[in-house]
Amino acid sequence: MKQKTILPGQTIGILGGGQLGRMMAIAAKEMGYRVAVLDPTEDCPCAQVADTAIVAEYDDPEAAKKMAECADVVTYEFENVDVQTADYLQEHSYLPQGWHLLEITKDRLNEKAAIHEAGLPVVPYLPVRSQEELKAAIAEIGFPSVLKTTEGGYDGKGQYVLHSEKDLQEALPYIGKTPFELEKWLPFEKEISVIVVRSTTGETSVFPVAENIHRHNILHHTLVPARIPDALRKEATQHALHLAEALHLVGTLAVEMFVGTDGKVYVNETAPRPHNSGHFSINACDTSQFEQHIRAICGLPLGSTALLKPVIMVNILGEHVHPVLDKISLLSDAHLHLYGKDEARTGRKMGHLNILGDSVQDVIDKAERLG
Ligand code: ADP
Ligand code: MG
Repeated sequence: MKQKTILPGQTIGILGGGQLGRMMAIAAKEMGYRVAVLDPTEDCPCAQVADTAIVAEYDDPEAAKKMAECADVVTYEFENVDVQTADYLQEHSYLPQGWHLLEITKDRLNEKAAIHEAGLPVVPYLPVRSQEELKAAIAEIGFPSVLKTTEGGYDGKGQYVLHSEKDLQEALPYIGKTPFELEKWLPFEKEISVIVVRSTTGETSVFPVAENIHRHNILHHTLVPARIPDALRKEATQHALHLAEALHLVGTLAVEMFVGTDGKVYVNETAPRPHNSGHFSINACDTSQFEQHIRAICGLPLGSTALLKPVIMVNILGEHVHPVLDKISLLSDAHLHLYGKDEARTGRKMGHLNILGDSVQDVIDKAERLG
């Protein structure tokens, strides 16, 4: 595929209209691009800020055709892009990211293998596609361990933490029906992530290492700079850059890692798109992950990712919306981002807050004052 420069005034097509698509679109609109989005929901978060909304299923061939007609470049905000749609757009439009990375990252086994082949450390894992493989995997990896579905899992869904044989009961009915992998449970100090962006021109840039704190398997907050030794910060950054090259990245890749209690950095999983743990960059970096992504797919020079100030990013889930809005008068220190979703269901990601301060402790204190 020939590399093109897409200039402001031209149209960026986005597959998927959730919050990631919305924030890509906002960045694109600021730069003067037009935006078209494909999503089955009419008033989805991205459609609210886009110029054109194609309301259709992701596998609707007519919708792919419409997208190819109006967009000068097409990108995606999620992993489960329909293969036929991607194929069509590759042929009839400009899809500089291709979809090879989607194919790798949507299957945990493929993804782990690719990370391992790139020479990066992963926790020991084995495939579990049958009762026999389960037995063999347990014999080799033992307990504690975690059984994960290879496809479709997110926010800890499709995972079974195993301390002993008896924890297997719940998963047993699915063994052999859905493919799993068994992973050794890694005692870790910290969960961190690095967002790396690579342009169609080959230029690469990397964001500051983020420290992620999960609650109930959902990202609760992110702290930057991560509270880890500089040597590990360097190691994590190198891992992300190395993976970007090894996977021939175009666009954005989020790399989730563990800092083990053994002092080593392990790669856990990746996502080939802007990521929740990179939302801090909207207010705390020179260039946000969303603007960088747009620059990358349009072939523009990448921006500086320098951290302007320490920051905490706090996710706002459905149950938090009213408590946060009740405290609106206390939010002078915080940048509120709500995604325009109408139904505030418990656990649904509705927005986030970025709070900047003079130190990591300062931003933690500020966040605590908000409750
Ligand atoms: P998801 O796609 O659901 O985000 P992850 O692999 O990131 O899946 O797992 C969710 C969370 O479970 C991680 O953020 C981490 O806290 C925990 N976890 C997953 N795998 C392991 C492991 N091998 N050792 C220790 N903790 C793990
Ligand atoms: Mg994860």
